[in-house]
Amino acid sequence: MPKIILDPGHGGNDPGATGNGLQEKQLTLTIAAKVQTLLEEQYIVDAILTRSSDVYVGLSERAQFANGLGADYFVSFHHNAGGGTGFESYIYPGTSGTETGRRQDVVHAEIMKFYAGYGLRDRGQKEANFAVLRETAMPAILLENLFIDHSGDASYLKNPTFIQGLSQAVASGIAKAVNLQP
Ligand SMILES: [Zn+2]
Repeated sequence: MPKIILDPGHGGNDPGATGNGLQEKQLTLTIAAKVQTLLEEQYIVDAILTRSSDVYVGLSERAQFANGLGADYFVSFHHNAGGGTGFESYIYPGTSGTETGRRQDVVHAEIMKFYAGYGLRDRGQKEANFAVLRETAMPAILLENLFIDHSGDASYLKNPTFIQGLSQAVASGIAKAVNLQP
């Protein structure tokens, strides 16, 4: 059975970005847990969280956890901050021509299909030398789901219907990218 690692960013004494009454560490866990449920309800898959409560887990520890399980895909959940709006995804630099890049194309497009319905901006498919992308032995992607410190983006992130729809879009994107069986 394919193993998909779902990695809710931050946790414990590391809240991540904050703004508009939201904390990144709470949102990432909420969404990753929903994606886990949706994947396991809809596909033949083992979906595993790197943390399932509000605890701090180091970046290398997250990658080593996935490596130790021999996972097939690693998906890290984050929310942006610092001035901007919309969605972007990241893979490790230089991997766009590999399976990692092919999966980014599929996952990014599926999530953007959801965001486009709300008129939200596509900031693009990007590359960055993030530890969880660098230290994972399997294809990996990091999602920056909207800006927590942008009032418009934050109002969507506070909407349970929107969060459910986003979680389904992420689950569908992963399923397509990894060719999960219903
Ligand atoms: Zn983050």
